[in-house]
Amino acid sequence: MGRGWKTYVAVMAVTVLAGSLLTDGSPAELTVSLGTGLSMAAAILIGLRRVPHGERAPWRFFALGLLLTALASLADGQGADVLPGDGPDLADALYLAFYPAIGIGLILMIKLSRRRTDWAALVDAATVTAGLALLAWIYAIGPALRDDTVGLAARLVTIAYPIADLLLLAITIRLLRSNGREGRRAPTLVAAAVLGYLAGDMAWVIVPHVNEAWADVAGVGQVINTVYELSVLVLTMAIAWPQVRGDGQGAASVSQLSRVQLAVLTAAVMISPALMIEQQLTGGITNGLAIAIGSAIMFLLVMARFTQLLKQAERQSRTVSALSRTDELTNLPNRRAWNDELPRVLERARSARAPVVVSMIDLDHFKSFNDTYGHPAGDRLLSAAAAAWSAELRDGDVLARYGGEEFIVLLPGTDESKATAVLERLRAVTPAAQTFSAGLARWDNTETSEALIARADSALYAAKAAGRDRILAAEAYAVS
Ligand code: GH3
Ligand code: MG
Ligand code: MG
Repeated sequence: MGRGWKTYVAVMAVTVLAGSLLTDGSPAELTVSLGTGLSMAAAILIGLRRVPHGERAPWRFFALGLLLTALASLADGQGADVLPGDGPDLADALYLAFYPAIGIGLILMIKLSRRRTDWAALVDAATVTAGLALLAWIYAIGPALRDDTVGLAARLVTIAYPIADLLLLAITIRLLRSNGREGRRAPTLVAAAVLGYLAGDMAWVIVPHVNEAWADVAGVGQVINTVYELSVLVLTMAIAWPQVRGDGQGAASVSQLSRVQLAVLTAAVMISPALMIEQQLTGGITNGLAIAIGSAIMFLLVMARFTQLLKQAERQSRTVSALSRTDELTNLPNRRAWNDELPRVLERARSARAPVVVSMIDLDHFKSFNDTYGHPAGDRLLSAAAAAWSAELRDGDVLARYGGEEFIVLLPGTDESKATAVLERLRAVTPAAQTFSAGLARWDNTETSEALIARADSALYAAKAAGRDRILAAEAYAVS
């Protein structure tokens, strides 16, 4: 934040706080609140110069919102009634217009964050909003609808505020979630400002409920007004860090549930039991139906979240298990996967009375290949050989990386002579003129998988000893 901005924000903060000491509705107070409001709307428009062209739209709507509230406080102070009697007036129209202006700004900002729609974030936002909607229904919307001392228009305007609050709250939570872990400053400050404003709105509802007399104490209204104005100042400050465009990466995922988010969700689902207890202890439950419906909605949302988490846990465990069974370099099954697979194949061969051959392959003089061409070239050869060999095998054959430059092949339904032919094909396609030695062993229908592998390994050892670059079957030498 530049020096000019810091000074401006400090002056505004002092002015707002000083203004709160003036008598509510006095000309001086009106002048200060109109002056600060217009000044902050103008500050956002001036600050726009720092914002890249494609990212200015949200800020224009925020400036419009500030202009509307400034004008609203003026109309409010002048008692500018457009409708006769106690009905909604120009001030209400201006105050209410603030919500769509800010809401559109927030939605545009969410769009700029370029993250894909995250269902978990939407469910979280819906859960918190549902909890507060229940509160709003019981304390604000329901009583206003039943109040037949005022006309329908007045009742509708009264309930429009809490409904607009709830919508703005849902959008703000969504903005916070789309801001992701890196927590860009502008969206965080904008969200803090809107939440401050909403807290002010809530205070208007809660204060008279807690104590009827407090609502008329002048100081309370002034404190709440100061909260509004400071929130607007925070919104103005946000443009000092205008960067909101995300890279579209790392959207808040299902698993990203911080302690704070968890605490907020817990508090939200506790609202309905708390209401029930409160009503039961103070003259009996009067909003049973609303509380029951609210609880049902929140239970469904919690179950939806639970299902998302469960699905994600299953997906992750499948990924981890696939990773733990795959060799990273060659993408072949690794030794662990092979050790699981072999007994299963042997069992199937026993019942089908079909032959099975196991063959160990070891690249010849691979150390000198590495020494000559370098380790990375050795790695490339290993993965190229794995791909070339795989292409020569049929479905049901298993090629696995057993260790460093050792591979193992499982050939079900194949006898020694066919297996030798298969391995000759592998020799022919081995890249970079590299040779290998192989030992193969046919399962005798009774030995353990370890014994079978040990025989293939000795055959390999014999092939190496006999001069490398050849294939030997266990039976061919194992007469001793
Ligand atoms: P032999 O013909 O007796 O098998 O000779 P060799 O050099 O292939 O055998 P040795 O077992 O002495 O050496 C194996 C070499 O394989 C040593 C090691 O550098 C290389 N190696 C093992 N794993 C990898 C790997 O993942 N990448 C690369 N580039 N080389 C590897
Ligand atoms: Mg070797
Ligand atoms: Mg070796």
